[in-house]
Amino acid sequence: MTITVAERQKKRPKKFHRRGNSAALFERAKKVLVGGVNSPVRAYQAVGGEPVFVQRGKGAILWDADGRRAIDFVGSWGPLILGHGPTAVLRAARRALRNGTTFGAPTELEIRFAELIRQAVPSMEKVRLVSSGTEATMSAVRLARAATSCAKIVKFSGCYHGHADAFLVQAGSGALTLGAPTSPGIPEEISRHTLVIPYNNTDRLRSLLEERSDVAAVIVEPVAANMGVVPPAEGFLEALREATRRHGTLLIFDEVVTGFRLSWGGAQGAFGVTPDLTCLGKIIGGGFPIGAFGGSAGLMKHLSPEGPVYQAGTLSGNPVTVSAGFAALKVLRENDPYAGLAQKTRDLAAEIRSLARRFRHDVTVNAAGSMFTVFFTAGPVTDEDSAKRSDTAQYARFFHHLLDAGVYFPPSQFEACFMSTAHTDGVLKKALKAVHTAFKEL
Ligand code: PMP
Repeated sequence: MTITVAERQKKRPKKFHRRGNSAALFERAKKVLVGGVNSPVRAYQAVGGEPVFVQRGKGAILWDADGRRAIDFVGSWGPLILGHGPTAVLRAARRALRNGTTFGAPTELEIRFAELIRQAVPSMEKVRLVSSGTEATMSAVRLARAATSCAKIVKFSGCYHGHADAFLVQAGSGALTLGAPTSPGIPEEISRHTLVIPYNNTDRLRSLLEERSDVAAVIVEPVAANMGVVPPAEGFLEALREATRRHGTLLIFDEVVTGFRLSWGGAQGAFGVTPDLTCLGKIIGGGFPIGAFGGSAGLMKHLSPEGPVYQAGTLSGNPVTVSAGFAALKVLRENDPYAGLAQKTRDLAAEIRSLARRFRHDVTVNAAGSMFTVFFTAGPVTDEDSAKRSDTAQYARFFHHLLDAGVYFPPSQFEACFMSTAHTDGVLKKALKAVHTAFKEL
């Protein structure tokens, strides 16, 4: 069978991101949405150019407003460990919708969902569901402050814990990229209660806790994902646990990203370090808005209605969200994809490193579980300072090369790439080919 030139051209994948409808949509969006987007990193300020407007996603693939396709390594910033539109999750959400969208009253599924979470993360003896990761971290800190009668919290520079006032101090991610580590609009009276020390620096934490007796909690991303991926140094999490316990300070693991991603039991399962409070989000909603926090029954009893610490939410435990999340967690429990995902990610990271070497680029690829970041620096990248040594202009060029070749990486150096179970060997081979060309042409 002969294929005509016209047919062959039709078969050739069209390039993602060549203006067209996305550009027109962005112009329209800017008239009614601030910066044309509903979350700052989506506006591409860190890489230049204009954002791609997405029409749909399936598996590892996204289609833009012009019908062009790209391999997606953003995965909606973490929730999509099963890729876009997994059948079990869509089916569960549709089934839930038949009964209505929200009741503002308890449902049986919330119990089963919390039981499943507790089974995976036993330190979450009692759980409260909320509607975003920000709500989870913000509420966990309120609870910690009430339980300890202390005001101060310790966070690590480069870690992001959502956009609540207390956290927007050297906050990584969008805040890093925009060069606005502390946002205006936050009274000094609030931010002075947040003490910031470098990630992976145990000595600084120890001396800080020696010096002060007013620290309610230490909050940490057990694997940092918001200055790019930065794994904890050997012994770092253990040292945090030991020091906080010794000083009567609570340890909060913000597992909004790592929960159900690093392992079925999250980072605490993978590293065998148990925090006092855990925050979840992203994956547990199956792609719908959600957050959760929890800890021992003794600690959680401070929360209303059992105790005086107020926290509430109109859509908390939303039946469609919980159904979708429950379906996603069940797939993860049954399929246990974690070892496979980590292996695929390690292999991809190794290939990217070797391509970078071949074309003489100073590149460090950090990987943890199914997350990785390609930093344009000789590295090593172990904290915010070393992450910030990256050549962000070079990353921006790399990003655009990949996008033009149909591979969608995060539009910022300081974000994680997320692998999903839908990233097959074939998909990854295509992605590597694009990385190869990008390094060659940079
Ligand atoms: N904690 C971490 C570690 C996060 O990465 C994020 C979001 N990227 C949040 C909290 C906040 O979650 P949300 O955007 O759902 O409010």
